[in-house]
Amino acid sequence: MKEPHNPPALVTSTSWRTLVSSVLLLALAVLTSSLNAAEPEPGAWLKKWQQQNPIWRGIQLSVANDSTAEALIAELPKLAALGINALVAEVDYGFAFDSHPDLRLSRVLTKPMAARLGQACRENGIRPIPLFNCLGHQSWSKNTFPLLVKHPEFDETPGQFPSNTNIYCRSWCPQHPEVNRIVFALIDEIIDGFSADALHVGMDEVFLLASEHCARCKGGDSAKLFAKAVSDLHGHIVGRRTIEMLMWGDRFLDGKATGYGKWEAAENGTHPAIDLVPRDVILCDWHYGKRAEYPSIPIFLEKGFRVWPSGWNKVEATEALIEAEQKHRNERMLGHLCTTWGAVKVPQMAEWPPIVAAMKRWAKRSD
Ligand SMILES: [Zn+2]
Repeated sequence: MKEPHNPPALVTSTSWRTLVSSVLLLALAVLTSSLNAAEPEPGAWLKKWQQQNPIWRGIQLSVANDSTAEALIAELPKLAALGINALVAEVDYGFAFDSHPDLRLSRVLTKPMAARLGQACRENGIRPIPLFNCLGHQSWSKNTFPLLVKHPEFDETPGQFPSNTNIYCRSWCPQHPEVNRIVFALIDEIIDGFSADALHVGMDEVFLLASEHCARCKGGDSAKLFAKAVSDLHGHIVGRRTIEMLMWGDRFLDGKATGYGKWEAAENGTHPAIDLVPRDVILCDWHYGKRAEYPSIPIFLEKGFRVWPSGWNKVEATEALIEAEQKHRNERMLGHLCTTWGAVKVPQMAEWPPIVAAMKRWAKRSD
């Protein structure tokens, strides 16, 4: 014979009251203990970091899977000892998005690992700044990244350039009415994943803009369209999320007037956008070759922006750029960012000559 179902609980009104008051007491105890744990006020870590780090000494690398993050966490104490105090961690579509799982690459950085990396950075005095490439860089070589694969309607050049032949990278259309809704959801997940107080939105080397192949943008002004994309992102990141926004600065520079050319500056008409975007965006001014002068640093400073000059793999060029940084000392000249672009693996970063040279030049002299 089967056991009878549990009879309805014979709960008297007295025992209900006991139960309810026990639950309330428990909730009160939990609340009190969390208050007693002296939780730091939101933003307290950042405030302290800003006070302790008048010079930003950063490294940038791709951290788009858990094994890279794990290796990086192990290196953080060594990097911190060298003087690194900021990390630009590029994730792009290598992130475990829940809002749009179809936009994940096959290998991703998981959210628990992003949280671990963010926390490990903060414990080592390093500010974690995740990076998600916006607008441009939506493909690399023959590979188109998930956003434009799943949403070909967002493509600035829909159906054009099969296999990405004859183009550098695809762009999304800054005027597509649906693109920001999806991009902002991705951005929010990355910000929350790292508990980040700043986000880098990429936006370098955008060549496909105001394309004749886009019904919305054809005949449009490249500078206005670029500025719209920047301002939309700023509205979400700085406006709604109230964190800082960084981006690469090349599209704001006149390639001809500065002599920088069409890569590290623009020859596709975007540079007047500099006067159309919010001044509190931090511009990462990348130049990887040795030059006598880096005119972009004073240009950006005079416009009122904060500038974070960024070098790469050549020691001589890194030292020349840092010389220019030090010549233009200003509270808005933030310091130096060492990009890596795959030229060095994580375990060798603390010994990589351009990083060592940069840290030596900026040393602790300003702290
Ligand atoms: Zn368009």
